[in-house]
Amino acid sequence: MTSTAAPAISIRDLKKRYAPAGGDEGKLALKGVSFDVPEGGIFGLLGPNGAGKSTLINIMAGLVRKTSGSIDIWGFDIDRDQRNAKRSIGIVPQEIVFDPFFTPYEVLEIQAGLYGIANHLRRSEELLRAVHLADKRDAYARTLSGGMKRRLLIAKALVHQPPVLVLDEPTAGVDVELRRQLWELVTEMNREGVTIVLTTHYLEEAEELCDRIAIINHGELIANKPTRELVGMAREKILVLTLDRDLTELPSHPGFVKCEASGERMLEITYDKDRANAGEILSAVQAQGFSVVDVTTREADLEDVFVSLTSQAA
Ligand code: ADP
Ligand code: MG
Repeated sequence: MTSTAAPAISIRDLKKRYAPAGGDEGKLALKGVSFDVPEGGIFGLLGPNGAGKSTLINIMAGLVRKTSGSIDIWGFDIDRDQRNAKRSIGIVPQEIVFDPFFTPYEVLEIQAGLYGIANHLRRSEELLRAVHLADKRDAYARTLSGGMKRRLLIAKALVHQPPVLVLDEPTAGVDVELRRQLWELVTEMNREGVTIVLTTHYLEEAEELCDRIAIINHGELIANKPTRELVGMAREKILVLTLDRDLTELPSHPGFVKCEASGERMLEITYDKDRANAGEILSAVQAQGFSVVDVTTREADLEDVFVSLTSQAA
């Protein structure tokens, strides 16, 4: 997809060194990260724990001060045009924090007040309906389930109608059912025109939800591509063979990337699909005296790409 529209978010050479503690020189959590988030999509920022995802989000949210570099949100520089930048983004933090004695309706009204939104322009009821909490309008926040609280946080981030919504690990530690619900909600918001950025360390979440994925590892950006292209980078395929007797040695072939025993009579062979096909691999194994009783194949997925990219960069 090519677009001439300005990016929703533009990040340039962003660096963050946390203050030194206990005699160290301070953790360099972001080492000069640059990328754009195009308008209108669902953008995934993927990376293992400690990669620097929350640091980046918290800088956008104004919770962490960057060391250097720049960020534009909806065309507004977060330093020079802080007010407009802030109005253009809604951020859902990873941790759930509410005053337990407010109701969902009150939480949204208080947030609207903070943004100086006039009473007649407030959308609290509409937002509660959008996140399927209309029936909890007047319940105390402390009586809501974890999933309801997360949905309320999303509504809260949308009170000022920002064109960009950022969610930091929205589904970390939530059950499968709630994950599905949140995915649906995010997709719905996106369909209504909100540009979404979400961080996650779940590969399947990024693969399922995001149209573009950036991967961050040790404070560095190591990939940034449309999801389909990224998954397509997996050039390897895996052939799993069951043999008729216990393995005493392993076969070999120039097309093998890796060959290992995955059980007493099971062999897992990873091969480069540009250099060999399953038939050739199978013939080579049989020609070396191995008798194959069963064969299955597995396509490499985002996980394989992720592992190969993050291990190269380490
Ligand atoms: P992620 O969200 O990808 O898991 P974070 O941005 O939370 O990663 O952390 C990136 C690195 O910065 C980690 O090594 C983490 O320990 C460190 N870090 C995060 N917050 C602080 C802080 N307030 N002070 C010092 N180091 C921090
Ligand atoms: Mg984090």
